[in-house]
Amino acid sequence: SKDRFFFDTCTIPCSLPLNLVKESLRLPVASVRREGQPMLIEGDIAIDSEAERNADPCTSSYCKWGKYTDGKVYVPTTSPTTSVTSREKSIITRGLESFSSFSCIRFRPTRSTDRDWLSIESQDGCWSFVGRRGGKQVVSLARSGCLYHNTVQHELLHALGFNHEQTRSDRDNHIRVLLENVVSGMEHNFRKIATLNQGTPYDYGSVMQYFRTAFSKNGQPTMVPIPDPNVSLGNAQQMSSNDIKRLNSLYKCCEC
Ligand SMILES: [Zn+2]
Repeated sequence: SKDRFFFDTCTIPCSLPLNLVKESLRLPVASVRREGQPMLIEGDIAIDSEAERNADPCTSSYCKWGKYTDGKVYVPTTSPTTSVTSREKSIITRGLESFSSFSCIRFRPTRSTDRDWLSIESQDGCWSFVGRRGGKQVVSLARSGCLYHNTVQHELLHALGFNHEQTRSDRDNHIRVLLENVVSGMEHNFRKIATLNQGTPYDYGSVMQYFRTAFSKNGQPTMVPIPDPNVSLGNAQQMSSNDIKRLNSLYKCCEC
């Protein structure tokens, strides 16, 4: 809509200059609703109280962030300044800046003219809306449990329009979901979504894949890979090459 966005030449190198980092594993947070906070689904996805926004399919219409004349997608973003330590702030900054090294996404400081923007705040838990929802949009990264590189990337990918790997439309070919081990009332975390998979394969190493006992009520797996049940699941320390490919594909970072 409007004339904010144009397509022009782009010069994004789409190679994958990834440095391996060691970070603590992300833990799923309880799906709870607290006063003044949006309702959470799938542990860390926030939804509007009026209408559920069903994620990835929306990126084919209204919830993608716009591309500018230089081929980049600028996402206005405010980061916490006083509520976090400088070390914590550097983790957030590193997560934001990592996207510049492998995609056309640029998280930049907000300006007074910005209509839509991300507000990174240390609220209760790690959560985000899926895709651009209009106006100010909170991405919560609590100081306790959320300030890890993989978690920052994970929540930012939600805000850019991506869902959990285990909700992919083709997931039943790649993981078996064991609902009998899921905490009662948490089954919705394993619903399937008509996701746009950008031609990328199901990726057990995606930063969007939960680990195998997520939402387990008994310590038994809630997800088992097919055909090899012993494949590592949900241990990504950072965005995988497939995460990067589908991000670049969705936002056409490599097309001019
Ligand atoms: Zn998530």
